[in-house]
Amino acid sequence: MVKRLVIRLGLGLLGLAALVGAWVAWQLNDRPGLEPYAAHWLPPAPALDASAAAAAPLRITFLGVATVLLDDGETPLLIDGFFTRPSMARVVFGRVAPDPDTIRRQLAKAGIQRLAAVITVHSHYDHAMDTPEVARQTGALVIGSASTANVARGAGLAEDRIRTVDDGARLQFGRWQVTVIGSRHLATGFTGGTIDEPLKPPVRATRYAEGGSYSLLLRNGARSLLVQGSAGFIQDKLQGQKADVVLLGVGALGKQDDRYLAQYWAEVVAQVGAKRVIPIHWDDFTLPLDEPLRPGPRLLDDFEHTMRFLLDAGRRERIDVKLAPAGVAVDPFAGL
Ligand SMILES: [Zn+2]
Repeated sequence: MVKRLVIRLGLGLLGLAALVGAWVAWQLNDRPGLEPYAAHWLPPAPALDASAAAAAPLRITFLGVATVLLDDGETPLLIDGFFTRPSMARVVFGRVAPDPDTIRRQLAKAGIQRLAAVITVHSHYDHAMDTPEVARQTGALVIGSASTANVARGAGLAEDRIRTVDDGARLQFGRWQVTVIGSRHLATGFTGGTIDEPLKPPVRATRYAEGGSYSLLLRNGARSLLVQGSAGFIQDKLQGQKADVVLLGVGALGKQDDRYLAQYWAEVVAQVGAKRVIPIHWDDFTLPLDEPLRPGPRLLDDFEHTMRFLLDAGRRERIDVKLAPAGVAVDPFAGL
């Protein structure tokens, strides 16, 4: 009698687990479309010729998550450099590691040969995991927190290729002036923690602890660009800073309430007097970069909420909101 009850209970639990698993899998495949935003994409930058290069055009190429190539025709810089994009199953149940072949292929596709630096906004795997391999393949310096430095060391990158920075650091690469400004990660289950020893992949994705988050202010001639990798902020931290364009991290932002979104907008966009906002970190980074980018699953984010808020705020405050197509060089200042 008891035995039969236990068997029934066991079967019932198994059935329930299978149902929950199926529901989660279905939910993770439910992603909003991009069709409603057809009018909000930046056009490809015109092909560079000698006269255009002389006018020092700045181009950016969005490559998913917070990976962005910044090029002034002379000194290419890369933010983060995350290309491996392991599957959801691997991230949740397995161990992750950079895939040098995928990285090589994606760098070639983006036209990246040499880089002066790859600058990491924080040390989560979707930002810092591939950074050292990108540096190895492009000759770049790795710039990031002490945790990012340990990601680079774990990958065997030489010490003279790693530069540890913190709040207030100023760096110069060609005409680029880069200021590192301490910031905050959006509060998630994975926020906080540091990587205190060289981290040797493959490891569980959660081993890539945040290690501090940064806003990056990049100036080049009269132009200025703020890169905000995570949708967090420190109140008044950006006071007195100016940026024409903000590359605004919106990962998981859609699950926050409007009050938080308004604060984030005020602290990061309005505060610096931005004329344009380009959302980044909106894509599902468990899908490969070979496929068209798709917004994160509704279970984990609410891209439609984010876009509704940004487009409304932009309209109200006359700040242009544009998406950057993946893998296409655009002029972020076009028409400003
Ligand atoms: Zn993160």
